[in-house]
Amino acid sequence: MLPYGRQSISEADVEAVAAILRGDWLTTGPTVTAFEDAISAATGGHRAVSCTSGTAALHMAYAAAGVGPGDQVVTTPMTFVATASCASILGAEVVFADVEEDTALLDPAAVEAVVTERTKVIAAVDYAGHAADYDALQPIADRVGALTLDDAAHSIGGTYKGRPVGDLADVTTLSFFPTKNLTTGEGGAAVFKDDALAQRAHEFHFIGLVRDQDRFAMTDEGPWHQEVHEFGINYRLTDVASALGLSQLTRLAAFKQRRTEITARYNAALADLDGVRIPAQRADVDPAWHLYPVRILEGRRREVFEKLRGLGIGVQVNYIPVYWHPVYANLGYQRGMCPNAEAFYAEELSLPLFPDLTDAQVDLVVDSLRQVLA
Ligand SMILES: *Cc1c(COP(=O)(O)O)cnc(C)c1O
Repeated sequence: MLPYGRQSISEADVEAVAAILRGDWLTTGPTVTAFEDAISAATGGHRAVSCTSGTAALHMAYAAAGVGPGDQVVTTPMTFVATASCASILGAEVVFADVEEDTALLDPAAVEAVVTERTKVIAAVDYAGHAADYDALQPIADRVGALTLDDAAHSIGGTYKGRPVGDLADVTTLSFFPTKNLTTGEGGAAVFKDDALAQRAHEFHFIGLVRDQDRFAMTDEGPWHQEVHEFGINYRLTDVASALGLSQLTRLAAFKQRRTEITARYNAALADLDGVRIPAQRADVDPAWHLYPVRILEGRRREVFEKLRGLGIGVQVNYIPVYWHPVYANLGYQRGMCPNAEAFYAEELSLPLFPDLTDAQVDLVVDSLRQVLA
């Protein structure tokens, strides 16, 4: 089965990991810091805190932002469940705002209609690798005293109005799962424009341990002392994983270029095909395409999904609207709430897209889709 996404691992990646295994630090060592610095450099220069997954990054970011009971987090339903569930798990109320009909990105007008004085975070998702409209979202957040969050699990390496992902929102979260635009196996990071927020996130992912003597409440314990002021979790990324990430980062631009080429090849082949609609792209965005989300019209998405899988093409669907998950339905969230997201979900089909996909494989996917639709 041709997968919809997969990692690209070079011999240099293997060597980088092996070197760590032969060294002194498997975790909490210098390679973690080096990886965080490299992520920071690739995402606009703000402090990056690494962690064990994109989900951990969201949990850490919301916790650092102080999200809790009584707060609202406004987000898109067209995302992986963790964008919302990590706010819910902290006790916040998640408010879903609909997406734009064509891009499936959080619609600033829909956000404007639901924000209140209780809104703590407005969390957009750069769906498929295409940045959301942060210049429209930031003033709404500023007006109600909320932070903007960019769930950039799909979009590291992309730009919006010439600015890199990582510099678009107050907080940016990343995932390094194998299907994403670069990988550490499991892994993630969050990038913060505000240094105090970054430090709070760092401590949250380090069990809450405070090591700065100037902040100690207990001043006379001894040189071994560290103390906890707020609860935290162990979400630390290892040096082993960080070495893989550092090595992968040297190929981020090449990954993006190949993903762009494949997307252009799909677009050219599918633009005039009846029964499908190709992904929308804004003129001021340079996406780092993670998914190729074609839309299958006339109610045929499921049929096309099953027939392509039968032909060995590992298509995927991204995503079921988050509030359809029973955990949200059981809280009273109703279907029909975000019609654009639901219409998008009904038609969406992710075609295979990863850097090592060959032109011949792209053509095979296109021919298979033509054959199934004929
Ligand atoms: C993958 C993903 C996550 C979660 O990342 P993990 O590393 O799998 O925990 C969060 N949000 C979006 C949009 C994702 O695609």
